[in-house]
Formats: sequence, structure tokens, C-alpha cells
Amino acid sequence: GGQLYVVATPIGNLDDLTERARQVLAKADLVAAEDTRHSGRLLNHLGLNKQMLALHDHNERARVSQILDALSQGQSVALVSDAGTPLISDPGYILVREARAAGYPVSPIPGACALVAALSAAGLPTDQFLFAGFLPAKRVGRKTALESFKHQPATLVFYESPHRIADFMEDLIDVLGADRECVLGRELTKAFETFYAGPAGELLSELKADPHGSKGEFVVMIRGWEGEQGAEASVDADKLLAMLVKELP
Ligand code: SAM
Repeated sequence: GGQLYVVATPIGNLDDLTERARQVLAKADLVAAEDTRHSGRLLNHLGLNKQMLALHDHNERARVSQILDALSQGQSVALVSDAGTPLISDPGYILVREARAAGYPVSPIPGACALVAALSAAGLPTDQFLFAGFLPAKRVGRKTALESFKHQPATLVFYESPHRIADFMEDLIDVLGADRECVLGRELTKAFETFYAGPAGELLSELKADPHGSKGEFVVMIRGWEGEQGAEASVDADKLLAMLVKELP
């Protein structure tokens, strides 16, 4: 029967395509891609010539029925996005959901993902993290979103585009304070890979001073809230203790 593979592709360095991804793409009857020209170049690089179908945010619903048809004919379908792991700030959610609902097996072919790559080398706590993709593009929306994360103890992870990174940092400083520790991962796996780390205020100055500071792709990571929650937790512990004491003989 038909099978859907969710295939991760590189986030910059083509050598990061896994051997299994190559095999699955080679065997696929159909490749559903966010941008067929972009993914066509990857397939070309692999020496593959495949039937492709464009699946992006604006046509996903319509394309899903076409792909379900292919699956019903027993075809093997590979879903790829422009970079990294599909569905992670990329299209594919509706397709995966509908394919599962229709009873087709859906298998991940894991590989590069910018947020995991960034976290793995940032030196911030990774036991808990909260990934929230792209925040709203306008200041008010972005600040409101940041406000909602103000007391979040988990490490915060966002994606941001190069032309908004300075505005993002300014809003971050306004809402979370200039002292909040941040790490920016820029152009990961590429020739100009750079990590910027430090308190948000200093980091913004560094970014502004760097001629490459507004170029390339960024993952923004922010140390989680380390204040009051501890105090709140101990209040809860006191309440809990009081309750337990009542239960004692
Ligand atoms: N699906 C992708 C993944 O698995 O990471 C993410 C796609 S999202 C549309 C693109 C965003 O991911 C960029 O704006 C940037 O924030 C981040 N990103 C992708 N590649 C990156 C890289 N090489 N270095 C830093 N950030 C990257």
C-alpha cells in the first residue's frame, strides 16, 4: 500500500542529507515539495528525476486530496520542505493529519532541523525548551507574544528572518530586559556560521556592529525565567506540607 515519508533535508550544508533520506527520495513515486524549483535542485544534485507536486501553505488543503489519491494507488510519497524538517515552521501538517486519518502509514526520515542544531551548540539549558517558531512580524504582536513568555522557565526558541532580527532584539530587551541571556545561531552549517551569546543588550550592540549582523538566517534562543517561580513553587510546597500535616495521625 501507499506510504508517506516525511523527509528532512539539509539546512545549508548538502552533506547533511542522510543516507536514508537519499534512499527514500530515490524510491519515491512522488515528491511533494514546498517549492518544486528549490527541491528540484536538491533532487538534481542527487541525480534523481522525480514527479513533483507543490505543497505550500496556500494550496495544502487542495493538494492533499491529490496526494491521498496517489497513496490510494499504492504510491510512495516523500514530503520535503525548502530546508530542514517539514512541518517545523513549514507546510505539511494537514497532509500528515489527513494521511494518518485515512489509514496510511506515515514515517519520519529524521535529519537537520535548525532549532535542534542551534540548541545543541548554544550552551543554554535543554532539559526544557519552548519552540514558538516565528513571532508576529509587527511590533505590537511580537511584544504581546514575548510578554506571554516572560515568566516561562523553559529555554525559549524562535525563528526570525534577517531583516527583522534587530527589531526582534529591541522588543526582547523592552519586554524581557537587557540582562536576559540570549544566544543567536546564524547561518548554521553554512560557511558563515556564527553564534552570538550574551545579555540581550550587549548582543544587540554586537549584532549592529557586525557587517554580517543583519544577513543570513537566525535561530533566537533565550534563557528561561529564573526568578519568582522558585518562590511560587516553595509557596506551593508549604501549602502541600500543611495539607499533608492535616492527614497525619
Ligand atoms: N523546517 C525548517 C527546520 O527544520 O528548521 C525551518 C523552516 S523556517 C521556514 C526557516 C527558518 O528556520 C529561518 O528563518 C531561520 O530562522 C531558521 N533556519 C533555517 N535554516 C537555518 C540555518 N542554517 N541557520 C539558522 N537558522 C536557520
